Order: sequence, then structure tokens, then C-alpha cells
Amino acid sequence: MGFPMYTGACLCGAIKVEIAGSIESIIHCHCSLCRKNSGTAYATNGFVNADEFSVLDPHKKLNYYAFKEGKHRHFCSVCACPIFSSNSDNPSKLRIRLGILDSDIEERPISHNFMSSKANWDDLNAAIPRYDGFEPSRKR
Ligand SMILES: [Zn+2]
Ligand SMILES: [Zn+2]
Repeated sequence: MGFPMYTGACLCGAIKVEIAGSIESIIHCHCSLCRKNSGTAYATNGFVNADEFSVLDPHKKLNYYAFKEGKHRHFCSVCACPIFSSNSDNPSKLRIRLGILDSDIEERPISHNFMSSKANWDDLNAAIPRYDGFEPSRKR
């Protein structure tokens, strides 16, 4: 009883996902591949069991980029949001970006990885202000 059911969606909403299980080995990955694929300082990734992961794609918008033989990065072809990554060496596990989830989750990240590849402006210890919205100096 009581296994979690998490839901998520891509940015445009064309693709929805459901996870009927837990998310394992959540990491903040600072490697150059995750930085480029996300356009951000790091990506937060975790593994789900393939048989507990459902993709709802009624308009057939899911596409993929074959990063290497057998390693596919699946994304929404409308909004370019990453949905999951698959590796034919281990088809029972899929890797997801936690940012696509709309649910609060029980699991927590366990580490920051590939710190030697992080961008030189990526400073986790910087004492910079935190705001609920944009910084007050922003002109709009
Ligand atoms: Zn989309
Ligand atoms: Zn990475």
C-alpha cells in the first residue's frame, strides 16, 4: 500500500507523465552535457522504473535525440522540454528531470555530481539575495 503517484508535464502541456513508484538516486548533475541540455547551471535527475513510468502523448509530440548508440534523450517536439532519457544497456530504468514534475515528492537529492565540470559562475556557496519573484531592479 501507499506507493507514491507523481505527475508531471512538459512546458506546453502536450505531454504528461505519471510515476507509480519511487524516484531513486536523485542527483544535481553539473556535467557539461546536463548543462547544455538544460541551459542551466546543473540538472536534477533521478531514476524511475520503466514499468512504473507512463507517458501520455495523445498528439504524438514525443521525439528523441540519439546522443549515442542506444542512449536516447526524449523531449517534447513542441516546447523542447526534456521528458526522459533511456539507455538500451539498462532498459528497466529511465532517467527523468525532476523539474518536469508538478507533484511534491518524498525523495530528496543525495549529492551534487561532476563538480569538476561545473560552470565557473556556478557558486553554490555564494551569499546572494533570494526573492520570491524577479529581482527588484529588473525593468519590465
Ligand atoms: Zn511540450
Ligand atoms: Zn550530467
